[in-house]
Amino acid sequence: VVLCLWATITEAEFIKYRDPKQPLNVRIKDLLRRMTVEEKIGQMVQIDRVVASPDVMKNYYIGSILSGGGSVPGPKASAEAWVNMVNDFQKGSLSTRLGIPMIYGIDAVHGHNNVYNATIFPHNVGLGVTRDPKLVKKIGEATALEVRATGIPYTFAPCIAVCKDPRWGRCYESYSEDHKIVQAMTEIIPGLQGDVPPNSPKGVPFVAGKTKVAACAKHFVGDGGTTKGINENNTVIDFHGLLSIHMPAYLDSIRKGVATVMVSYSSWNGVKMHANRDLITGFLKDKLKFRGFVISDWEGIDKITSPPRANYSYSVQAGVLAGIDMVMIPMNYKEFIDDLTFQVKNNIIPMSRIDDAVKRILRVKFAMGLFENPMADLSLVNYLGSKEHRELSREAVRKSLVLLKNGKSAYKPLLPLPKKAQKILVAGSHADNLGYQCGGWTIQWQGVNGNEFIVGTSILTAVRNTVDHTTEIVYNEKPDADFVKSNKFSYAIVVVGETPYVETMGDSMNLTIPEPGPSTITNVCGFVKCVVVVISGRPVGIEPYVAKMDALVAAWLPGSEGQGVADLLFGDYGFTGKLAHTWFKSIDQLPMNVGDPHYDPLFPFGFGLTTKPVKN
Ligand code: BGC
Repeated sequence: VVLCLWATITEAEFIKYRDPKQPLNVRIKDLLRRMTVEEKIGQMVQIDRVVASPDVMKNYYIGSILSGGGSVPGPKASAEAWVNMVNDFQKGSLSTRLGIPMIYGIDAVHGHNNVYNATIFPHNVGLGVTRDPKLVKKIGEATALEVRATGIPYTFAPCIAVCKDPRWGRCYESYSEDHKIVQAMTEIIPGLQGDVPPNSPKGVPFVAGKTKVAACAKHFVGDGGTTKGINENNTVIDFHGLLSIHMPAYLDSIRKGVATVMVSYSSWNGVKMHANRDLITGFLKDKLKFRGFVISDWEGIDKITSPPRANYSYSVQAGVLAGIDMVMIPMNYKEFIDDLTFQVKNNIIPMSRIDDAVKRILRVKFAMGLFENPMADLSLVNYLGSKEHRELSREAVRKSLVLLKNGKSAYKPLLPLPKKAQKILVAGSHADNLGYQCGGWTIQWQGVNGNEFIVGTSILTAVRNTVDHTTEIVYNEKPDADFVKSNKFSYAIVVVGETPYVETMGDSMNLTIPEPGPSTITNVCGFVKCVVVVISGRPVGIEPYVAKMDALVAAWLPGSEGQGVADLLFGDYGFTGKLAHTWFKSIDQLPMNVGDPHYDPLFPFGFGLTTKPVKN
C-alpha cells in the first residue's frame, strides 16, 4: 500500500507542469527543474523557417520559429499549407523528452500581410489618423483570427514607435508623432490577445486561447527618434525625454498584458539597445514589472558591435546579460548555441540569467495554452479574408484618409464628386496597383508591385464600382497633356505616390514623390478639375504641386480595400481624418514636430478638412 501510494505521488508530481489546473508558477518551476542546460538554451533560440525542420527542432530543443520578412512557404500558399508546415515543425518539438511546444511568430503588422487572400488593413500611419482605439482593437481581433487561421500563435506587432522624422523608412509603422495617440492605439494589444482579466497582477502576459495571438510591442525603445530618421541610428535624448515620449506606450502595453517586447536595433545616447542592461533589465523588467519575454530583433545581437559580428562571443554575452530572453538568430543557430553553452558552463553567464529567460518564455507558452493546444487546425480558415474583415478594413480606410485641400476656394469645394459625372479620367501609377496600395511588409518583405498577389480592390476598380452606370471611366496610367486636353473629362482622379519599401531601404533624405507622379499631376491638373490621391507611408514633398490641384487627399498605405477611398471621393461617407504626423513644406525643415518653436508646416498636425455624406 505504501509503495503504491508513493508511486501515485511521484506520478502526480511528474506531470505537474502538464496539468493546466496547477498554478502557472508551479508549472514553470516544475518544468524548469527538469530541464538540462541544452534544453534551456534551446528555448531561448528563434530560427527562421528556412533552416527549421522537425529534426532541428528536436535535436536542438529550439523554442521558436519565425517567418522573417517574406519567408513564406510560397507567395500564394494556402492556409492549409501553412497549418501543415507549422504542425510538422511542432511535431519535432513535441517529440523531445519534455515535449515543450515551440512558438511560431510572424510579422502580421497590418493584417496577416504575408498570406495570400488575407485582409490587409491600413498601415499604422493611417490608423493613427482615425484616433479610434475601438476600431484598432477590432482590427487586432480580426488579425488574430486570420493569423490563427494559418496555425500561427504569435505576431511581431504592434510597432509602437513614435516617428519624429518622416525621413525614417519605417515611419509608416508608426501611428503618430504624438505619443498620446500611439498610447491610445495600444488597444490593438487586447484586440490581438484578449482583455486582461480584472485583478490580474501587473505585467503578467495574457493571451486568451486559440482565437488570439501573442503580441509584441516593438522596438524597445526610441526607434522613432533617431538622428535624421536614419534607421537603426542613434536616438539622442535625455532620460526625461525618453520617458515622456518613447516610453509611455510601453507602460500601456504592459498594463494590457503584452506577451513580448522586441528590442530596437537603434542606440540610445550611443549605447546599443541590444546591450542596454539598464533599460531592458533595470527598467522594463524590474521597474515596469514586465513578466513576458524580451526578444531580440533579427540578428540584433550581431549588431551590438560595429562592424556586426566583430566579436560574436561578446555580442552573445552582452545581449543575454542585458536581458534578452529569446534571440532571433535566425540562421546560424548552432554557433549561437555553442557559444552560449560554453559561456554558461564556464560561469561567464550565470545560470540565474538563463533561468530567468526560460521562465519568461515558458510563462508565455503556458499562459496562452500552447501546452494544451500545440497543434493547429483549419477551424478558423473562413476568417481569412472574410467579408466582415474586409468591411472592417474598408471602414478603417475611410477613417484614415485626410482631406488636405478641397477646391481652389473654400466656397467651391470639389469633393464629393458626383456619381453621375459624364466622363471621369482615372490616372496615375498607383490607381490600379494593390501592391503599391499595401506598401512594405506585404506578401514580400519589400512589398509587391501590381495586382497578382493581393486579393482586394484597387482604387480604379473601386471607382468603377461606385459611379452610376451612365458614367464613363477612362483609365490611363500615364496620360500626356494632349490626351487630357483632347478628351472632354468632367473630372480626373490622379493617384500617385511612393513605391513600397522596408526598413533602411525606405530611408529618404529628399522625400520627393517619384516620377511619373509629378508629371502625371502636371499633365492632368491644369486641364481638368482634379483630385490627387497620394499613396505614401509618410508626408512627402508635395508642396510644389498643391497649387495645381483642385483637391488633395492623403491616403497613406490603405491596404487591400480601395473601396474605402471611393466611398469618400463620391460622398457615401464624409472625410473625418486628422493628420497624426506633421506635413512639412520643405525637407530642410526636418525634423519638425508639433510644439516646436519654429513650427511652420504645410499642413499642421491635427489638420484635416471634412465633408458631409451626400444622398446620391
Ligand atoms: C525588423 C522587425 C521584424 C523582424 C522579423 C526585423 O528586420 O526590424 O520589426 O519583426 O525583422 O521579421
